[in-house]
Amino acid sequence: MRTGEGVQTVETKNIIVATGSVARMLPGLEPDPKTILTNVEILDMRAIPKSMVVIGSGAVGSEFASMFNRFGTKVTLLEMLPRIVPFEDEEVSKERERLFKKSGIRVETGAHAEKLERSEGGVRITVTLSNGKQEVLAADKVLVGVGRKPVTDDIGLETTRVETDRGFIKVDPDQQTAEPGIYAIGDVVAGTPQLAHVATKEGMVAVAHIAGKPVERLNRMRIPSCTYTEPGIASVGLAEAEARARGYKVKVGKFAFMPNSMASILGRHNGFVKVVSDETYGEILGVHIIGPLAWELIPEAVAAMSAEATVETIMNMIHAHPTLHEAVGEAFNNIYGLAINA
Ligand SMILES: Cc1cc2nc3c(=O)[nH]c(=O)nc-3n(C[C@H](O)[C@H](O)[C@H](O)COP(=O)(O)OP(=O)(O)OC[C@H]3O[C@@H](n4cnc5c(N)ncnc54)[C@H](O)[C@@H]3O)c2cc1C
Repeated sequence: MRTGEGVQTVETKNIIVATGSVARMLPGLEPDPKTILTNVEILDMRAIPKSMVVIGSGAVGSEFASMFNRFGTKVTLLEMLPRIVPFEDEEVSKERERLFKKSGIRVETGAHAEKLERSEGGVRITVTLSNGKQEVLAADKVLVGVGRKPVTDDIGLETTRVETDRGFIKVDPDQQTAEPGIYAIGDVVAGTPQLAHVATKEGMVAVAHIAGKPVERLNRMRIPSCTYTEPGIASVGLAEAEARARGYKVKVGKFAFMPNSMASILGRHNGFVKVVSDETYGEILGVHIIGPLAWELIPEAVAAMSAEATVETIMNMIHAHPTLHEAVGEAFNNIYGLAINA
């Protein structure tokens, strides 16, 4: 915590900590504008590199991999876990990998980047591949997209009762920490995804609690998540494997964009909509989309789940033609094998 000249003390009853996050780096490395980049330096590049290795296939890594591939850069995407976009439904990960490979991106899952060295004209990355073999990759640039760490060091938390978990601040459902009057929102919060709309909602909850006004708290199962690759990814709720692990009587409906008229009009047929539901009461547990403008389609699912609509509601809802939304309706109908255009 800073002390000394220029430091002012402000007295207040309540504090909201919203100091955000910064890109994580691999141990022992510092980013630079020329070769080893994070999401900050990559946005300052003045020319399209010929080749780039992207480490990490979360939203940041996948989005930049997709973008630079479309710019003409030779992209290699390395992911340590067994599948890319690992927080998405497994079928979405599989489709994303298939489409990345089809578009010319080299995708290596189960791949561990061991060493990065600056070299003449670029960077060398030593990687252990899933088959156990080591390979040295050479590229003009490497993007390190291995997550974001909360900015909670050096802000004086140690002088409070605020509790943290690996730097993330623990809060209750009102966003209040263990120190009454100190709240936390956004990327510093433990247990919620680092997304702008999550930060916004958490801010609303904290302010309402401070003001003594009623507000609906954040429901983790209603948070949409969007990844801006081509095609896009958007999801809400439980993935199929999570739903099964929780003991639901899972019933899945899927529909591809191939027979969808608007997908034909747009010339973008890749991907599908997948609905995960519980057979017992027709509860909508999750909706997972990979396809054209996926992020524009997910609000229908979020609204339905927020209103606690059942799958029958969306099955019977009239979806305008021609729209991409028809694919959402068809996926719901396909839970019972009732899609019309399959
Ligand atoms: C490349 C990239 C793409 C993203 N794309 C999306 C997206 O498409 N959709 C989405 O929902 N989210 C996206 N995110 C995540 C989103 O940006 C964050 O979840 C969101 O900004 C978090 O808001 P915040 O208020 O917690 O933190 P921030 O927006 O990071 O704001 C924190 C602020 O606090 C300031 N600060 C830090 N320490 C101090 C201090 N000691 N004193 C005073 N000020 C301080 C910082 O300078 C900063 O301005 C993306 C993130 C990245 C990096």
